[in-house]
Amino acid sequence: MSKKMLVIGEARDGSLRNVTFEAIAAAKSISDGEIVGVLCGAGDLGELGNEMIHYGADRVITVSNDKLKTYTSEGYGQAVKAVIDDENPEGIVMGHTAIGKDLTPKLASKLESGLISDATEISEEGGNIVFTRPIYSGKAFEKKIITDGLIFATIRPNNIPALEKDESRSGEVTSKDVDVADLRTIIQDVVRKTSEGVDLSEAKVIVAGGRGVKSAEGFEPLEELAEVLGGAVGASRGACDAGYCDYSLQIGQTGKVVTPDLYIAAGISGAIQHLAGMSNSKVIVAINKDPEANIFNVADYGIVGDLFDVVPKLIEELKKV
Ligand code: FAD
Repeated sequence: MSKKMLVIGEARDGSLRNVTFEAIAAAKSISDGEIVGVLCGAGDLGELGNEMIHYGADRVITVSNDKLKTYTSEGYGQAVKAVIDDENPEGIVMGHTAIGKDLTPKLASKLESGLISDATEISEEGGNIVFTRPIYSGKAFEKKIITDGLIFATIRPNNIPALEKDESRSGEVTSKDVDVADLRTIIQDVVRKTSEGVDLSEAKVIVAGGRGVKSAEGFEPLEELAEVLGGAVGASRGACDAGYCDYSLQIGQTGKVVTPDLYIAAGISGAIQHLAGMSNSKVIVAINKDPEANIFNVADYGIVGDLFDVVPKLIEELKKV
C-alpha cells in the first residue's frame, strides 16, 4: 500500500525514545509510501529530526516553541494537529507511551478518525491492515482493522523491531512555526522519582523484585544484576507497598506494562495483576523459593531457591562472560 504515513516522534532528555524508531518501522510495514516524522519540543530539533531519517523516515517536520518544552496535551495537540492539517496523511503511528496514550485519543477525536491502541503486531490480511493487540491483561489477543479514513495506531514499545540505523540516509528536516495558543495548564516543575539509567518501559532486560526481596537493601543485588545485563530494575506492587522501592518501578495491571526480551522475576509470587504487566515478555526467568509459586506457570526458566543465593551467583557467572 502506498499511503502517506505520519510518525509522531518522542524525545526525552534530548534523545529520541527507541519507540520512535519502532513506530517508523511500523509505519513502513504498513505502507511503502512517504514516511513523514513529526517532532515537537523547544530549541533546535534538527539533529533529532536527522536521526528519525537515519531510522527510515523520508522527511521530518519539527515544531519548536517554548510552550512545547514539556509535554501538555493542549500544546502538543495544537502542534501535531497543525502538521496533520498541512500534510493530510493517510496514516499516523506513535508509541503507546504515557504521552502516546494521552495525545492520540484527543487527536483521533478531533480528526473524527478511528484509533487502534497498543498494537503489538501489524500484518496485511485480505487487503486490510490488521493490528493485533493484547486484551484482558494479555490473556487474549484481538485483531482489529480500521475500515474507513485515517489508519491511526499506537504501538507497544519493544514489540515491533526498529530498522537498523543507516547514517547514509538523508532527507529534509523542516521546521514549522505553529502559533501555539496560551496553555490553560502549565507544568511548573517536574520532580523525578526514578533514578537515571535504562527506561523501564523500553528496557530489553528487566530484573524485578517482589516482597521476597524483604527490604530496600535487598534490591541492591537486583540492581547489580540489572547493571551487569544492561537492564532496568522493576518491582511488584507487593514490594512497592512494603516501601522497598518507588511506585514508578511497579509492573502490572496498575503499573507499567513491559515486554522486554528477558524478564527476571525474583521473589515475586506471580499474582494475576503482576502477570498482566509482564507475561508477554519474550523470555521469563523466575527465582522463587516456593516451587508452587504461580510465577513458574508463566516462566520459561525457573530456579527454585533463595534469591539471595541465586542472584549473586548469576552476577558472578555473568561477569565472566
Ligand atoms: P507476595 O505475593 O507476597 O510474594 C512474594 C514471593 O516471594 C513468594 O512467592 C515467596 O515464595 C517469594 N520469596 C520470599 N522470600 C524469598 C527468597 N528469599 N527468595 C526467593 N523467593 C522468595 N501487583 C503487582 O505486582 N502489580 C500491579 O500492577 C498490581 N495491581 C493490582 C491491582 C489490584 C486492583 C489489586 C487488588 C492488586 C494488585 N496487585 C498488583 C497486587 C497483587 O495482587 C499481589 O498482591 C502482588 O503482586 C504481590 O506481590 P509479590 O509477588 O511481590 O508478593
